[in-house]
Formats: sequence, structure tokens, C-alpha cells
Amino acid sequence: MPDHHDVIVVGVGSMGAAACYQLAKRGARVLGIDSQSVPNTNSSYNGDTRVIRLSYQEHPDYVPLLRDAYQLWEEIEQDTGEKLLHKTGVLYMGFPDGEAISGVKLASKTHNLPCSTLTHDELARQFPQFTLSAGMVGALEPEGGYLLSELAVETYAKAAQQLGTKLLTNEPLINWAIDSNGVTVRTTSGTHTAAKLILCAGAWSGDLLRLPDVPLTVTRQVLGWVRPGQPALFQHGDFPVWNIDPNGDGDLTGIYYGFPMSGDTLKLARHHPGTPMPADAVTDETFAADEEEILLPLRRYLPGALGQVRSIKVCKYTNSADGHFIVDRHPESERVHFACGFSGHGFKFASVIGKVLSELALDGKTERPIGFLGLSRFCR
Ligand SMILES: Cc1cc2nc3c(=O)[nH]c(=O)nc-3n(C[C@H](O)[C@H](O)[C@H](O)COP(=O)(O)OP(=O)(O)OC[C@H]3O[C@@H](n4cnc5c(N)ncnc54)[C@H](O)[C@@H]3O)c2cc1C
Repeated sequence: MPDHHDVIVVGVGSMGAAACYQLAKRGARVLGIDSQSVPNTNSSYNGDTRVIRLSYQEHPDYVPLLRDAYQLWEEIEQDTGEKLLHKTGVLYMGFPDGEAISGVKLASKTHNLPCSTLTHDELARQFPQFTLSAGMVGALEPEGGYLLSELAVETYAKAAQQLGTKLLTNEPLINWAIDSNGVTVRTTSGTHTAAKLILCAGAWSGDLLRLPDVPLTVTRQVLGWVRPGQPALFQHGDFPVWNIDPNGDGDLTGIYYGFPMSGDTLKLARHHPGTPMPADAVTDETFAADEEEILLPLRRYLPGALGQVRSIKVCKYTNSADGHFIVDRHPESERVHFACGFSGHGFKFASVIGKVLSELALDGKTERPIGFLGLSRFCR
């Protein structure tokens, strides 16, 4: 059968591109199908960069997964020669009992992670770029930094193709079915068969998964690029990835975070519950309020960075009900596995989730600690 594959991967984005690569590396015949081009600017990895950090307090099992993720980011860098991970350190700032500072301290203590704490005065001396309110302190995680997310997806997809993966782009999956021989998927241009299927369609997962008990909410999130008034203060090498939890500091809510200079701009964003939007909405419409969302933390905390907003982009979070990822076997068949609901913090895990999906598809199991990400928490 000429068009029969070992595994079909639907959604060659953050998780799917890494899965294609890991499958192909083990010799599987892989077909990757994406409804758009790879990479594209309408998926959840758009906007150049994503933060990576080890000190995760959200669940203890994220940290072992992250240790594997770091190794696997190094693996793809070595295999392809592309530099994807930049360890600039991550500087957390906030009040001592706020979520960010207490969380990073707890995670670094529990998992024995490198992390140094900074008093308000030490922070002011070491990072004079920030004008923090009285009482705010810091923690510096040297292993943290950022990933070049669009380049990473492109790199994984190209490396998978070099290992024989066939990639169909601009070809949306319409339906999938199981029979005794395997899986059949229908796209806009035809049907394809395989022994196994992996579904990782990001914001579009809701309809494709056919799991009514698993609500996914897609929200609109804003990214901004500013040309700073004093660019010398924010140069790569001197200035880390930063993260401010202003909770309790006047009217600011959510977490503000940003990156060192790239070219002549400084990128920043706000991690907060965004406005719900349809999964298939095109993400190129921006408003005056978006610009204000980007300038507000600069006025308050980074005055030297204030300047012209060069561009605003919109990106989608796909939120699960509890904020944790959902990675499991599909209840309809042991031939189908899926990953979705990355809730605005999944990219740093893409390397290890790709590996997990390849293990689930080829071995039917994984030794990695993904039990807490399973479906059982929704479908009792
Ligand atoms: C503004 C913003 C900031 C973020 N910051 C961070 C951060 O700093 N650190 C971090 O770790 N994470 C961050 N994230 C989260 C992270 O980017 C996402 O969790 C991750 O990209 C989700 O990956 P995914 O594979 O589920 O979806 P995607 O990467 O979007 O991939 C889904 C793919 O499926 C394809 N597809 C959809 N429908 C179909 C169909 N019918 N047929 C075929 N293909 C289909 C799409 O075209 C796409 O390529 C951020 C997200 C946003 C939006």
C-alpha cells in the first residue's frame, strides 16, 4: 500500500513537529499533516521566542519532564547545528509572599535547582533597569532563558523530513476513523492510512478530538515589540529574561514578562486570562488597548525601555480547565494518542512532549511521568 504509514501526526506545530522528528529518528514511516504552512504565524508558537525555565511549582512532575526537555533541546541543536535555546537566566520579581517569588523558591528547594535570591536593594544594584515598588524582591534562575520558537518548529520539521517524514501542508484534517487495519484520515485532498495516529492540533483540537467532557477555551493573548529609549540597558548578554508578578502592587494583575533586545526591539507580554476567541479566528487584528497593555508595565517598572511600539501580535492560548496539559491515549482506540490544552506554558516542553508522543505511538507506553496530565481527571 503506497500511502500507508506507521504514524500520521496531525498538527505539525510545537508538539507535532518534535513528534515527527522523534518518530522518524526511530525509523518510523511518518506522515505529518498541517492545515497551514510550517512554520506559520497563526499558531501558538508565533512571535519569535518563548520562555524556558526549570523552577516550576505548578506540579512536581513538571520538573523531571523539564530536565528531559532541556536535554532534548540540546539533542536537536546538536543534530541540526541550529542554536535554539539561549540561557540568559530568568529574573523573577514580586512580593516575597506572591506566587512568583514563593513558587520559584519552593520549586528550587524541592528539586534542588540553582537559584539565588535578591533583596530589594540587591536587585536595584544588580538590575538598575527596574524601578520596583518598595517591598518587591527577586530570584535569579541561571538555567532559564528563551527558545527561538518559530525556528524550533521549522528545525524539527526539516530534520524530520531529512529522516524521511512526508509533510503535507495547507491541508486540514477533516475527519479520522479507526478500523481493524489501523486509522484512516480524510483531508481536503484525499485519504491517508496508518497504523497509529497522533493528534496535536493546538487551538483547533476541540472539534478534532471528539471529547465533549474535555473543555478547551481558546483565548486571545497579546505580544508587543518596543524600540526602547535606552537600548544599551537591555542588551543580550547583560539583561536576562524577566518576569514580574505585580500582585498587590496597585491595579496591575497577571504576570508581565519580557526578553533581552533582539535587533532594535525589546519583546514583552502579559500572562493573564485573555479574552475567549474562536479557535479558527485569524490572529492579525489589534486594538489601541493592546498597545496600552504593553506600555503599562514599562511605565511602572522599566522606564528606560519606554519607546515606540514597533509591532503587536496576537497569539492563542488553548486552556484546559485546570491549566495543566492533556496528554493521553484517546478513549476510542489504543491506536490514537493526543496532546493539547497547553494553557499558555507548553512550548518549553515541546521537545519532551514530542518524545513522549513518539513513545506512546511506537511502544504504547512511556516511562516519563505524564500520569498527572491524563484524561482521568476530566472523565470519571
Ligand atoms: C502569547 C503567547 C506566549 C506564550 N509564551 C510561552 C512561554 O513563554 N513559554 C512557554 O513554554 N509557552 C508559551 N506559550 C505557550 C506555547 O506557545 C503553546 O503552549 C504551544 O505553542 C502549543 O503547542 P501546540 O502544538 O499545542 O499548538 P501549535 O503549536 O499551535 O500547533 C498546532 C498545529 O496544528 C495545526 N492544525 C490545526 N488544525 C488542524 C487541522 N484540522 N488539520 C491539520 N493541522 C491542523 C496548526 O496549523 C498548527 O501548526 C505562549 C503562547 C502564547 C500564545
